[in-house]
Amino acid sequence: VTDLEYDAQSDTERNDAGRIYYEENEPQIVMGSYMFEPEYEVDEQVLAEPEAEVLLIDQKLDKEYLPISGNAEFCKESIKLAIGDDNPALAEGRNVTVQGISGTGALRIGSTFLSKFFPGPKNVWLPAPTWGNHVPIFKHVNMDIQHYRYYDPKTSGFDFSGAMEDISKIPEGSLIMLHACAHNPTGVDPKAEHWDEMSKVIKARKLLPFFDMAYQGFASGDIAKDAYAVRKFLDDGHKICLSQSFSKNMGLYGERAGAFSIICHDKDEAARVMSQVKILIRPLYSNPPLHGSRIVATILTNPELRTIWEADVKGMADRIISMRDKLQANLAKEGSVRNWSHITEQIGMFCFTGMTPPQVEKLTKEFSIYLTKDGRISVAGIATTNVEYLAHAMHQVTK
Ligand code: PMP
Repeated sequence: VTDLEYDAQSDTERNDAGRIYYEENEPQIVMGSYMFEPEYEVDEQVLAEPEAEVLLIDQKLDKEYLPISGNAEFCKESIKLAIGDDNPALAEGRNVTVQGISGTGALRIGSTFLSKFFPGPKNVWLPAPTWGNHVPIFKHVNMDIQHYRYYDPKTSGFDFSGAMEDISKIPEGSLIMLHACAHNPTGVDPKAEHWDEMSKVIKARKLLPFFDMAYQGFASGDIAKDAYAVRKFLDDGHKICLSQSFSKNMGLYGERAGAFSIICHDKDEAARVMSQVKILIRPLYSNPPLHGSRIVATILTNPELRTIWEADVKGMADRIISMRDKLQANLAKEGSVRNWSHITEQIGMFCFTGMTPPQVEKLTKEFSIYLTKDGRISVAGIATTNVEYLAHAMHQVTK
């Protein structure tokens, strides 16, 4: 089941979390990824993103093309956000950072670059399961797809020993994809001590780690904490690839603001890599979109807006955590005897409920609740106004 499911026959498109386009009847509950649906009683708070847009409008800026590599300030701020302002890689000029068409576009730049220049085997090792779009992204550049164990259905948690065993057998010099935090679709992340061990074995196998960071801030509510894995791997001396997205943590879905980075061995290598990356981008889309990158750069460089934004992110993460608690409590109230502890143990935007495809189908047909067939709900789509109904329906289909 992919994130963006497109059924060509019915011309029905479901986004990330089941929102259906091109259908006449609006579904009753969509476990969507959107935070600020009107019915979700948003507090009367100042949000960083609209404030940044007001500042931008006031400046009456032109709409010139960006360079091939994108908005320089945006790129600089993006990589700082991921690896930390004081990361030596920045002072040493070892990072290549370009703006992509959001996270997906960043992954496409990365996969295209690697398919051409990566000296290792032409395959990529993905966690099982992974975000559905990872597979076609790498297939499009003729890389073979392999999986390492990640999710343990028995515990609805991280299969640490399975992952370590599989990773330790990956052929030397291969490419491995890691979700930096808030794993999609499972909501299951390795703990810090797991990352430390994974870093060691990935180093021993001489693998190239490619971090997909689409949810920085969503797991813990803390930007730096959610970057633990990326920063730890750099501290351990890995060279890494990194895709970043601001769709979720700044609510910039349609602006397509994201970045792709490679942290290289030295400054000279970085210059060579940058040149090749630009050669790839130029015939793809010439240069990336301007507006979203300006919003991101404004928020990250304006101390006041940045403080507001960090509080926004924490607010979103905390709200998600409180909705997990409410869903679990309401399932108990309904009398469900199933073990739903994973609802609160998993983190980030998604919850892998463990419901089977027939149960999901029943939920949709009988209760008009829409989610992906693998049983994944976006916790962001839960609100105090629908959590009781959701728990009731989940109990009805699983009892
Ligand atoms: N990676 C993962 C794991 C994701 O879940 C998503 C969004 N669903 C993306 C990348 C890319 O999102 P976008 O293209 O909107 O930045």
